[in-house]
Amino acid sequence: MINIPKGTKDVVPAEAYKWHYVEEKIREVAREFCIGEIRTPVFEHTELFLRGVGDTTDIVNKEMYTFNDKGGRSITLKPEGTAGVARAFIENGLGENPQPTKMYYITPVFRYERPQAGRLREHHQFGVEVYGSASPQADAEVILIARAMLGKVGIYDLSLKINSIGCSECRAKYNKALKEYFSAHIGEMCSTCRERLDKNPLRILDCKEERCKQIAADAPVILDHLCDECREHHEKLCKALDAAGVSYVIDPHIVRGLDYYTRTVFEFVSNAIGAQGTVCGGGRYDGLVEQVGGKSTPAAGFGMGIERLLMVMQNVGVQIPPEKRPDVYIAPLCDRGCDVALGLACRLREKGFAVEREISGRSLKAQMKYAAKIGAKKVVFIGEDEIEKGIYTVKNMQDSTSLAMTEEELTEALK
Ligand code: ATP
Ligand code: MG
Repeated sequence: MINIPKGTKDVVPAEAYKWHYVEEKIREVAREFCIGEIRTPVFEHTELFLRGVGDTTDIVNKEMYTFNDKGGRSITLKPEGTAGVARAFIENGLGENPQPTKMYYITPVFRYERPQAGRLREHHQFGVEVYGSASPQADAEVILIARAMLGKVGIYDLSLKINSIGCSECRAKYNKALKEYFSAHIGEMCSTCRERLDKNPLRILDCKEERCKQIAADAPVILDHLCDECREHHEKLCKALDAAGVSYVIDPHIVRGLDYYTRTVFEFVSNAIGAQGTVCGGGRYDGLVEQVGGKSTPAAGFGMGIERLLMVMQNVGVQIPPEKRPDVYIAPLCDRGCDVALGLACRLREKGFAVEREISGRSLKAQMKYAAKIGAKKVVFIGEDEIEKGIYTVKNMQDSTSLAMTEEELTEALK
């Protein structure tokens, strides 16, 4: 027996309806917000993520699935969805179209993390990218899209946390203040944070270690270091959210795990699934397109973890409608009945009905048990007698009544 790799999951047919439901809702939201879908490869040149995501992040440093292909190229399985979209935006000349460009994706994401509840090595994300608008209205739009999606699947009890991490100028000043602060506590921090202190002190605020979190709690706050433009951007976003009636908290500790963010960062956090409560993370990343080789293009977006979304839905008791049951199960009672059943199944399926027919050669009793189990609404019996008379015996599984019907009557009854 070969087992599934650690940190990955199968979706079996009996569970797939939940995914279909979420995907349907994603496409509904996309339609309502006029967002086109973009599909990019599951793997990219490693260089894209080094440049895009940033080489001081955990994702790039520790978590990427990177290998050389047979042509000796360094290839990486997507560790996030945005960099590939930025590359595709440039490569397909999407910036030549009237702007902004709004795109969404549903993609598997691969990170070599320590598997635990809500933390997988392959997970899936619904993501949105809005390119070409520097206005805080675009940030607000992105947040509204995420919120609309969460509402569509019945999740209302989430906190929206927002912050601004400024531009490279305010960040430089802030990093200096952070360095000063953390230097005084270096002995108490984890080894990774000690390294972060020199390379990227902002990352320390994102550390999951308890002792580092405690020290970070009193660290200087970036909102006090924002330049005038960044502060104005942040205030305008808050105003737009107020106007939309969206409640939020400003959380100066949200910095996000990827280097590409500028100004706005946000998270939707649920209390329903324990430690891994962040269902959605996003923000603005005005430097990304240029960083991966395109023209300077303002951009904003988010990624939403579908597995975590499903966990929250389950924990708050969202009822997902089960997928359509078979309209009819066709039970042949003799050899000749098998051929007739096959013809009938083909004709009914062509009319759009969900039809199951016996293909295992079981006894009538076993067939009936099976038909009940799969929830078939009706069962059609085809024996010598039925073939002789050119009719079908149709059992209504809801009330257990049986009727003799012509094919025309059966078709009507199935509607
Ligand atoms: P976290 O802080 O939980 O590690 P992150 O900041 O790494 O999340 P992003 O890179 O912004 O997350 O990804 C967006 C969303 O994808 C997250 O909010 C989360 O819902 C989901 N996600 C991220 N990593 C995983 C994972 N390993 N397993 C399952 N879902 C994940
Ligand atoms: Mg992470």
